[in-house]
Amino acid sequence: MKNPFHIMLVPTLGCPARCSYCWSSESTSPVMSIDTVRDTVAWLKDFRSDRLTITFHGGEPLLAGKEFYEAALPLLSQGLEHLRPEFAMQSNLWLMTPLFAQLLAHYHIPIGTSIDGPADLNDRQRGKGYFDRTMRGAEIATANGLQVRFICTFTSASVQQKEEIFRFFLEHGFTMKLHPALPSLRDGGAQEWTLEPDAYGDLLVYLLDQSLEHIGRIEIMNISDLVRCVFTRRGTVCTFADCMGNTFAIGPDGSIYPCYRFIGMPAYVMGNVADKPTKEDLAHSPAGMLMARFKEYVDTSCQKCTHIRYCRGGCPYNAIVPTYGKIEGVDPYCTAYKRIFGEISDRFNREMQESAEMSVPRFGYGQQKNPKPSMMMLMHRIILR
Ligand code: SF4
Ligand code: SF4
Repeated sequence: MKNPFHIMLVPTLGCPARCSYCWSSESTSPVMSIDTVRDTVAWLKDFRSDRLTITFHGGEPLLAGKEFYEAALPLLSQGLEHLRPEFAMQSNLWLMTPLFAQLLAHYHIPIGTSIDGPADLNDRQRGKGYFDRTMRGAEIATANGLQVRFICTFTSASVQQKEEIFRFFLEHGFTMKLHPALPSLRDGGAQEWTLEPDAYGDLLVYLLDQSLEHIGRIEIMNISDLVRCVFTRRGTVCTFADCMGNTFAIGPDGSIYPCYRFIGMPAYVMGNVADKPTKEDLAHSPAGMLMARFKEYVDTSCQKCTHIRYCRGGCPYNAIVPTYGKIEGVDPYCTAYKRIFGEISDRFNREMQESAEMSVPRFGYGQQKNPKPSMMMLMHRIILR
């Protein structure tokens, strides 16, 4: 299970790639200083006492350079030893070298990297040459002991080739994590690539079908998370949990934000690591109060929804994009969430009813030689992973 307490550390917003739908890179961004890392350690030391995950995010985090990580990683891992920090990184891997990979492997840092499907499709969205550079980086990373997972962004254009994209992941034996291309408060240019809620709902149902049809041959992490949410009846990823107060992002200058998606927007700065703000200080900042208001809004607006316990209104950032920062609705992907949560619950209930009627052994296992793939089989696999 993931640690609820999550810090996203953004050493720079710079990035050498130019993806069409990216809203988070800034070519003139500074790189975080080691003094800011020291301030971060000093701030986090007494901030909370539960287990911590630190994800290096960007921009492109490798752009900060190997020397940055040679200094930062010992500071973070030793200075926060009592929180038993686990690290992760999201990187396009273009700047990966064997020595860089060995350093990150020493700290057991799993890497998430973006590939949107086969080379031509990927490079249409992410720029010529992107696919080869990332794959080369992934080879170097895995050859030097790092675990690499591929994140696939589905846009309004690429979703029309979902079958081809799925086949690419299946045939390469890649675990798939998907992201819908999302609109942003920062860049209106991302809008034309945005995946519409209905298309996202259709995509999730398609991927649920594929997960069942190819049980044991591919993991689609979002489907695993959604199934886990329904079965445990609680949100197990940030979108479906109350992220406020559990997730923070730290920008290159030490500014603290509610999440990396707010980085670079002064209106959402909650404080700075140099000032060692308390939980209460952050909660009383305008951004902290905005996040708390979203939670209250969801309690009222979603109260009749059968999925509220494990959806929690979706992502607060998504919710405030259409209204330029005001809380006037829940996450616009509500229709997609309702659709997939409903589909998972209905299929499971149907199976339970059928198995009761036919007195088939529990969970569809046992007497049948080649049992039809079922939600319970999928659930078992997810639990056993
Ligand atoms: S604002 Fe959205 S993306 Fe950010 S932590 Fe919360 S749910 Fe996750
Ligand atoms: S599915 Fe929609 S109505 Fe239900 S909890 Fe999620 S956002 Fe709210």
